Amino acid sequence: MFQHVEAYPGDPILSLNEAFGKDPRPNKINLSIGIYFDDAGKIPMLPSVRAAEHKVVADAGARPYLPMEGAANFRTAVQHLLFGADNAAVKAGRVVTIQSVGSSGGLKVGGDFIKRYFPESTMLVSDPTWDNHRAVFEGCGLTVKTYPYYDAATGGLRFDAMLEALKGAEKKSIVLLHACCHNPTGVDLTKAQWQQLVPVLKERELIAFLDLAYQGYGDGIEEDAYAVRLLADEGLSFFVANSFSKSMSLYGERCGALSVVCPDAAQAVNVLGQMKATIRRNYSNPPLHGGQLVARVLTDPELRPMWEAEVVAMRDRIQLMRRKLHDVLSAKLPGRDFSYFLTQHGMFSYTGLTAEQCDRLKEEFGVYLVRSGRMCVAGLNTGNVEATASAIAAVLG
Ligand code: PMP
Repeated sequence: MFQHVEAYPGDPILSLNEAFGKDPRPNKINLSIGIYFDDAGKIPMLPSVRAAEHKVVADAGARPYLPMEGAANFRTAVQHLLFGADNAAVKAGRVVTIQSVGSSGGLKVGGDFIKRYFPESTMLVSDPTWDNHRAVFEGCGLTVKTYPYYDAATGGLRFDAMLEALKGAEKKSIVLLHACCHNPTGVDLTKAQWQQLVPVLKERELIAFLDLAYQGYGDGIEEDAYAVRLLADEGLSFFVANSFSKSMSLYGERCGALSVVCPDAAQAVNVLGQMKATIRRNYSNPPLHGGQLVARVLTDPELRPMWEAEVVAMRDRIQLMRRKLHDVLSAKLPGRDFSYFLTQHGMFSYTGLTAEQCDRLKEEFGVYLVRSGRMCVAGLNTGNVEATASAIAAVLG
């Protein structure tokens, strides 16, 4: 019956993470998966989230289904977090937000919606991007192509080539943009570059689809929403999928959202309606618990500042590890430029290590990186950063 079902080759990142779990070596180091680990190498339970959970559980009653679009308190809190409570588009009722099953769920619901209402549109993603972007959007039936992004020669951004490519894109193409902390490269647009992008989006009638999975890990919670607010202020219509997996360390609770900024409130009503229809056909409605933790943290006057401080601490710890790795490697291999560890943002760095060098790191030293050379810097800690630097120096030397 199922002879024609071929074997699933597995997801490269999740498979590597599983291989790490099975590796018996005590000193193994996991820099593969995009998860924030604390200095003890543990996934943190943020005190603000723990306190929110106590409050939510104490108040919990029956467990009805949520509406298709999710919990109203969660959706409003997300809008305020992304756009700002006083945002004109939000106030005008032009922004619709649905609670999604992680931001992956938001990408999927958005992709299904795009396939239905913009069937001719191509999805343009950065070269490179998070592998699952292509998988999700192709799974929605969309054609996925790339625009230039990462400059391997400098470890920076090919901004001019990116702009040229977008100037030549078909009208109404969808442009997937990482709002901050680009995965996998750590290379972001500056504010000035976002501003330069706006007229191109307008002129070509391109529809931006922002992916904000690492809010707070770049320059700050507010700062990392810069692109969202800029595009809204510029009157553009666009999508934004955001995640609480990393910012609240709520990976398994699957907390995310999809927001769509529309030209007017009447269109927003219809867009929300069709989002609900998409959700109904996919999974009916989102889960209750995680979203309530998020809503509580975001709206509770005691918990909100606690969370903001926790995000600062996570971001600062990653910065410290970037600095340490840079310093140790620069000392071990003088004459080589490791400044990209300092300029790249967020959880990831593109190290420029080849697939073969990554294989050697894994096999000889138990240091796990994705074969593209992507390192999750958030897997480094004071106990393993020197060993990581020594291993990298050995394969580079
Ligand atoms: N977008 C990007 C760029 C990501 O790196 C990730 C997680 N690795 C996601 C979306 C999905 O996150 P989640 O579904 O956990 O919210």
